[in-house]
Parts: sequence; C-alpha cells; structure tokens
Amino acid sequence: MAKKKSTLKGLGARYGLKPRKQYTQVHFLMKTKRRCPDCGSLKFSRQAVGIWQCKKCGFKIAGLAYDVKL
Ligand SMILES: [Zn+2]
Repeated sequence: MAKKKSTLKGLGARYGLKPRKQYTQVHFLMKTKRRCPDCGSLKFSRQAVGIWQCKKCGFKIAGLAYDVKL
C-alpha cells in the first residue's frame, strides 16, 4: 500500500467496506473523551453496552450503546 488514507482498522479486510466504515465511526465515537456530568472528570467511559461510568467518582448512568445521550 502506497498511501495510508483513512483510519479504517479493527476488522481487517473482512465484511466489505460499508460495515468497516460504520465500525470505525462507532469505535471512534466510543473512544471519544467525555466529561463526567457529576464531577467533570474526563475519566468517563463505557463499562458495558449502555452503561457509562466515571472512574473517578463512580458516577454511573445508562446511556446509548455507543454514546451517552447528553
Ligand atoms: Zn465523575
């Protein structure tokens, strides 16, 4: 490969282009740094599908599978 154009990774060359694009989008959405609504820390991340928790203060809320509705 001559040029590295996008950040399509994680699934390799499988499943075709469309699912890989969607996976990448969701993956980055999930990895985005978020602020805890309670203490304002950036250690707010997804624990499981739909469950978001702050690692600093332990604040836990139910959100969407790959994003918090805020
Ligand atoms: Zn917090």
